[in-house]
Amino acid sequence: STMEGPGEKLDFLLQSLIKMSRLETGTFTIHMEEANLADTIARAMSTVWAKAEEKEIQLLADCDASFTVRHDPKWTAEALGNILDNAVKYTPAGGSVSVTVRPWQFYTRVDITDTGIGIKKEHYNDVFQRFYRAEEAAAQEGVGLGLYLANGIITRQKGYISVSSKVEKGTTFSVYLLMCIRILIWCLP
Ligand code: ATP
Ligand code: MG
Repeated sequence: STMEGPGEKLDFLLQSLIKMSRLETGTFTIHMEEANLADTIARAMSTVWAKAEEKEIQLLADCDASFTVRHDPKWTAEALGNILDNAVKYTPAGGSVSVTVRPWQFYTRVDITDTGIGIKKEHYNDVFQRFYRAEEAAAQEGVGLGLYLANGIITRQKGYISVSSKVEKGTTFSVYLLMCIRILIWCLP
């Protein structure tokens, strides 16, 4: 989301609040399907291309083009888009943002790594709270809902998000998407 005038800022805030209330009231339907993950990542990345280019931030993605996983493409793209938006926003000009995909136990893990300002360990949980913004983030526009929404979207799909960071070095957000539950049942004794 590139915010230009005051009207757009208000619209962005309203859109975020509407999504938040839909998330909390459960009036937001998740359609799980076996779908191409590279397509979903591409969809998410398309929302930050312009901003990344403007800041001369290198955007990289590494995902097998034919790889599929059970997820909701539309909402997952929104969640990944929010994480990518942060990665570009909180990374100084000339940095880089990369997306990688790898299997991890019963999950498919999508890592979004940036070379930005970083997050202190004591705030790892706070970043997922509504309206939380770190002091260091004050220089950038935002309302503090992006990660709250992303986390809600991913947990609704039985996945989760984790964070690991080094202040002034960069951050990695990992999105875990659960692999097909049938595989788990099949493994039971
Ligand atoms: P918006 O609602 O527009 O997304 P926001 O970006 O401030 O506003 P969140 O996306 O929820 O809100 O992020 C919450 C806070 O977590 C940010 O304000 C910032 O302090 C911190 N944060 C999130 N992602 C990063 C990142 N990649 N690097 C450093 N800090 C981050
Ligand atoms: Mg954000």
